[in-house]
Amino acid sequence: MKYQRSSQLFAAAEKVIPGGVNSPVRAFKAVGGTPIFVKSAKGAYLYDEDGNRLIDYINSWGPMILGHAYEPVVQAVIEKAKLGTSFGMPTELETQIAALAVAMVPNIDKIRFVNSGTEACMSAVRLARGFTKRDKIIKFAGCYHGHSDSFLIQAGSGAITFGTPNSPGVTAGTAKDTLLAKYNDLDNVATLIAANQDEIAAIIVEPVAGNMGCIPPNKGFLEGLRQLCTENGILLIFDEVMTGFRLAAGGVQELLHIKADIVCFGKVIGGGLPVGAFAARAEIMNYLAPLGPVYQAGTLSGNPLAMAAGLAMLQALDADREIFKRLEAKTAYLETGIRRVLTANNVVFTINRIGSMISVHFDENPVVDFQSATKGDNETFKKFFHGLLNEGIYIAPSAYETWFITDALTYDDLDFTIQAIDKVSQTF
Ligand SMILES: *Cc1c(COP(=O)(O)O)cnc(C)c1O
Repeated sequence: MKYQRSSQLFAAAEKVIPGGVNSPVRAFKAVGGTPIFVKSAKGAYLYDEDGNRLIDYINSWGPMILGHAYEPVVQAVIEKAKLGTSFGMPTELETQIAALAVAMVPNIDKIRFVNSGTEACMSAVRLARGFTKRDKIIKFAGCYHGHSDSFLIQAGSGAITFGTPNSPGVTAGTAKDTLLAKYNDLDNVATLIAANQDEIAAIIVEPVAGNMGCIPPNKGFLEGLRQLCTENGILLIFDEVMTGFRLAAGGVQELLHIKADIVCFGKVIGGGLPVGAFAARAEIMNYLAPLGPVYQAGTLSGNPLAMAAGLAMLQALDADREIFKRLEAKTAYLETGIRRVLTANNVVFTINRIGSMISVHFDENPVVDFQSATKGDNETFKKFFHGLLNEGIYIAPSAYETWFITDALTYDDLDFTIQAIDKVSQTF
C-alpha cells in the first residue's frame, strides 16, 4: 500500500501542530513510520487520503461500537445542527439522554454530562473528595483515567508508549495525593489503606483494564475493592469510559454484578462526538453545584449535537440488547482464529479478551498487571503492526492498546484478518 499523501499531510501538520497530532498515541512513535490520514469511514472500514481501504480495529478508540457513520447517529446530528449548534441553556434532549442512561446503568440515580472522559474522571474525583472530605486517592499502575494531573502517575496507553509516566508539569503536591497500587493485587490496596487511615477519598479503577492491553480483573478483585471501600468509608469509582455501554448495556457493574459509588463514562456514550459523563446515586450527585458545594461546569456541556449523537447511540443499544452477545461472539471467533494461526507459526503470545475487548501480547506469561503488560516483545509488535497495515488492517500503533470490535465487522472481515495474521506472523 502507498501512503504518499498521508506522509505529505503529516509533514504539513508537523509544522503547525506539536508532533503533527492532537493526541500523542495517533503518532506512530512506538512503531515507526508516519500516521495515516483519514478521509472518511463507513461501517467497519476506514478510507485514507491515498485511497486505501483499511479494516478498522480501533474505531476511534472505542466509540464506534456500531461501525462508522452509523446512519441514525449521523441523521440525528444533521437534524439537530439545523436547529442551532449550542445555546448554553437547558434543552429537553439532555433530560432524554440522562433518563435513558440512568435506566440502562445499575446503581445510578443522576448523571452529569461533560465533554471528555478526562473531564468525567477529574470531576468524579473532585466530587468524591468533597463528599468524603478527604484528599487522597488510590489509582492502579497502568490504568488510564485521562490526562488530568492527578492521574498521570503511571498511567497506561499513550503515557506508557512514550515512557513519560510521570509527566513534567504535574506538581509534587498533586502527585503526593495519588497513591499507586498494583492491578489485581488486593493485599497491596489493603496495605495502602492501612497506612493512610481516614485519608483516602476514593479508589478509581478501570473495572476491566483496557489501557495496558486488555486485562480483566481476577476473580474476587473487584469484590475485594468493594468490600475495602465499604469498610473504610472510601468511594469506589469505576472508570467505565471504555467499558460503559460496551461490555453490557450497564457496563461492568452489570456484567460482573459489582456496585460502584461513582461511574465515569465517555467514548460510546457520545456516539463519536466529544462527550463524557459521571453518575452516582442521588445522595452523592446532589453534592454538585448548583445543589451542593462541589463546583463543576462547562460552556459546551450537554451540547445539543453531542447529546443527539449520544442519545441515538444509546437508543440503538437499548433497543437491541442482543448486540452485546453478537459482539462477544465475533470477538471470540477472532480470538480462536488468531490463536490457531499464531500457534501454527510458533509465535510466543498471550491473548486477553473479555466481551468485545481483546489484546494480543507477544509474551508467553499471563498479562495481569502493568508490569507483566510491559514485558511483551515490541520488535515483534512493530512487525505485526506494519505487516497488518500492509494487508489493509488497522490496529492501534502501540502494543498497550485494546482492539475494539464493532458490530459492523462481518465474519468475512474476521476471516480476512485471521488470514492476514497468518501471513504476517510467518515473517516474524
Ligand atoms: C479514553 C479513556 C479516558 C479518557 O477519555 P478522553 O475522552 O480521551 O479524555 C479515561 N478513562 C478511560 C478508561 C479511557 O479509556
